[in-house]
Amino acid sequence: MPSNVDREKNSPEVQLILVDSNHHTFNGDILSALKSTPPLITHCHSLVEANQALDDQCQNVLLLPVEQSIPNTLIRLQTQDPLTGAGNRQHFYHQLQQVLRQIHSTEALCLMMLDIDNFTSFNHQYGHDIGDRLVALVAERLDSCQGKFDLCRIGNDEFTLVVRAPLNHIKIKTRDVIEQIIELLLPAYEINEHTIHLHCSIGVAMAPEHSTEFDDLIRYANTARIRAKKLRGHSYAIFDAQKDLDEKQSINLEPELWQALQKRQFRLYYQPRICLSTHRIIGAEALIRWEHPVHGMIPPDEFIPISEKSGLIVPIGYWVVEQVGQDMQLLKEAGLPEQIGVNLSFRQFQDGYLASTIERLIIQHHIDTRQLEFELTETALFRDEPHVVYCMESLSQLGAEFSLDDFGTGYSSFAMLQKLPISTLKIDKSFVAGIGKSEGDEEIVRSIISLARNLKKKVIAEGVETAEQLAFLKEHHCPMAQGFYFSRPVPLESFIELLNDPSSMPSL
Ligand code: C2E
Ligand code: CA
Ligand code: CA
Repeated sequence: MPSNVDREKNSPEVQLILVDSNHHTFNGDILSALKSTPPLITHCHSLVEANQALDDQCQNVLLLPVEQSIPNTLIRLQTQDPLTGAGNRQHFYHQLQQVLRQIHSTEALCLMMLDIDNFTSFNHQYGHDIGDRLVALVAERLDSCQGKFDLCRIGNDEFTLVVRAPLNHIKIKTRDVIEQIIELLLPAYEINEHTIHLHCSIGVAMAPEHSTEFDDLIRYANTARIRAKKLRGHSYAIFDAQKDLDEKQSINLEPELWQALQKRQFRLYYQPRICLSTHRIIGAEALIRWEHPVHGMIPPDEFIPISEKSGLIVPIGYWVVEQVGQDMQLLKEAGLPEQIGVNLSFRQFQDGYLASTIERLIIQHHIDTRQLEFELTETALFRDEPHVVYCMESLSQLGAEFSLDDFGTGYSSFAMLQKLPISTLKIDKSFVAGIGKSEGDEEIVRSIISLARNLKKKVIAEGVETAEQLAFLKEHHCPMAQGFYFSRPVPLESFIELLNDPSSMPSL
């Protein structure tokens, strides 16, 4: 194949970039990964040559028109919102952090968060295509505003703008920019045959006046925007600690979560899985916690739903796999015989690179896939079945197993249970809690145990808290269980102690 240098001189018609899958990583990480290990880049004259290159060494491929320079295009792919061309949410986080570090003592910045009033009902009324068109037009108008820098789109109809100025000019400049924005957004929008009038709300927070902390600034601008929403027409509000903090606003954890990931504040706890015939710990479930520097240990139910909504669950989920991979070595040495369950949320499957990224992590951390089990719920299976099936099959080919979490609360069909590579059913803890109290729950527990036996799948009862529940499960030949009766989820070191000294667990 001709060298890159020859091709650059000849100005090829088609440029082919081959990015080895080892370098393909989740959003925020890709640029740093590319910097540390540059991707394999090949330029080709024609599609025939490109095909040859693919045959030779393909992994992940990007075909780009020649006029786009490679680094710029890669950066754009990772930082740009495809609908409007503005920066995306990740870009916004990175930039704001960077600018906050850069501003010196005589400089200030103002963060504006803007959204369109009643956009959801607008979308219902006109449809998503027109909604998208409208968002693109708003972005176009905002982009022409003088004096702002870095326009980003961080949600459906949510934009951010940053203004920088000397300390004693920031207020004047901010008002200037707001007036300009309102003027730009005033005229009606003509889309197809519709003439659309709409209003926006702008929330403003300033550094250093309100805070120099990244997550505070975002929270304050957001709170101010909520106050602006209460006003009619185009409106804006500048953060005011008295007005805004007096009203009890719910804490916006999202920017903090982003930082938590970077500052490595997540911890994995392990809850043992017990074999009910040998009375030994045979496996574990990995459960995430957030060790917050101010609020202490935050349980997953308080931040997983937020991270699912924002998409942060994708990088958080990869962190979990990575950490389990590292801990697994120690757990194997301590004698853990079987699998560690890793929870996967439905949202993680929306990442097109799920299977390939996990594969990369498995290779990178030498993870023994025979000890890896992914727990997913029935809801995850139904969201986007073909893609979920594809991911499950790719991962099970690598040796990982799957269990169906919270089993009995969703809508699995027999056909599905047989079609998918699911090896274990986890009886939901709500049914286990009903043992001794509800005949219906007892019947469900018995049925799931016998269903698993008939389908030749393993079964685990979750949430075992009492000796009575345990006795019932043993009587009905449930092979495995986990729950507070045996142990709460504990940090790695305590779990290793449990493995070394099983006598510290209650006798069965
Ligand atoms: P889950 O997957 O159903 O996990 C079991 C939950 O039940 C855990 O709560 C565990 O601490 C709790 N539990 C265990 N034994 C007992 C018991 O005997 N009684 C009662 N009442 N509860 C028991 P936790 O750790 O708060 O996790 C809550 C949920 O957060 C998990 O439910 C899972 O859906 C999610 N989650 C936890 N870690 C991760 C993660 O790494 N990734 C994802 N995507 N989700 C996670
Ligand atoms: Ca689970
Ligand atoms: Ca569960």
